[in-house]
Amino acid sequence: MLGCVIHGQGDLRVDELPVPSPGPGQALVAVRYGGVCGSDLHYWRHGGVGDFRLREPMVLGHEVVGTVVSYGAGTSGPVPGTPVAVHPATPCGVCPECADGRANVCRDTRYLGSAARTPHVQGGFAAQVVVPAGQLRALPAGLDLRRAALAEPLSVALHAVRRAGTMAGRHVLVTGAGPIGCLVVAAAKAAGAARITVTDLLPRALSYAVSAGADAVVRADDPADPSWPHEVDVAIEASGVAAGLDTCLRLVRRGGVVVQLGMLPPGQSPFAGNLVVSREVELRGAFRFDGEFDDAIALLAVESSFDGLVSAVLPVRDAESAFALAADRSTSCKVLLDFTS
Ligand SMILES: [Zn+2]
Ligand SMILES: [Zn+2]
Repeated sequence: MLGCVIHGQGDLRVDELPVPSPGPGQALVAVRYGGVCGSDLHYWRHGGVGDFRLREPMVLGHEVVGTVVSYGAGTSGPVPGTPVAVHPATPCGVCPECADGRANVCRDTRYLGSAARTPHVQGGFAAQVVVPAGQLRALPAGLDLRRAALAEPLSVALHAVRRAGTMAGRHVLVTGAGPIGCLVVAAAKAAGAARITVTDLLPRALSYAVSAGADAVVRADDPADPSWPHEVDVAIEASGVAAGLDTCLRLVRRGGVVVQLGMLPPGQSPFAGNLVVSREVELRGAFRFDGEFDDAIALLAVESSFDGLVSAVLPVRDAESAFALAADRSTSCKVLLDFTS
């Protein structure tokens, strides 16, 4: 079977891999689609993401949907053939954060396709993958696999919106209109935001944000753009660029909330930190998600506007082209790999 393996910076290969067999507690899943994530692109282009560096070859991918094939001895779950999404995280369950109900910041979690720990946790970009059976989520009737492939990034967005607090009646700023920023728009809308303004450098990205429900869009590099808000109640930074965080801090109202969701470059970041003090801005981080995965699946099942965010589907043998396409934000939003070929 084919799998998509990162061997080092700039060295992405489609390798022939052995079909794994599930052990006790595990399930074998035939993967249909895998969404190419910003973190996958970072491993490819930079050999790491945030402060996590690649130290050995790793199957990429954590946005995975498919159908159940079989289970290991003594293990059960959705019957074979059931369409499922795979929750990519297996928190340890015993650390202080897990005990505190914050499993998304578990200090010993295993996350599909992540170099946060060594040996790395191999990911889901392969025709068949073994995962803990408890990570399977059966899809509701009527939710097709293609849209369901957005479950993981939508969970990230839902978690960021939850971190931001009340949305009802609020004017929300989202900096960055990549796939995550667009899904934050959809999540904020679903949570009752009154008005959503989105900034980005690229017109195409802003048009995806409009399809996700943005009320106003702003060219981030144009200070004279008439759509710049004077002030917002909540700002969610989804570009992973320090300038985006700076914009959020300058535009949020006094006592407002800024959520940093985008992964900033490794090391230190320049931003107007004194505004956190003088305006009592609440600066909060948002990292991955936990129970929001189930909320994401439920939301995807009832909302068809997400379909416009999947901008291309390529066969796994064209993985490098798919990655290049996903990295080209002047045309792409979410790019999926198809593993059935
Ligand atoms: Zn992702
Ligand atoms: Zn834990």
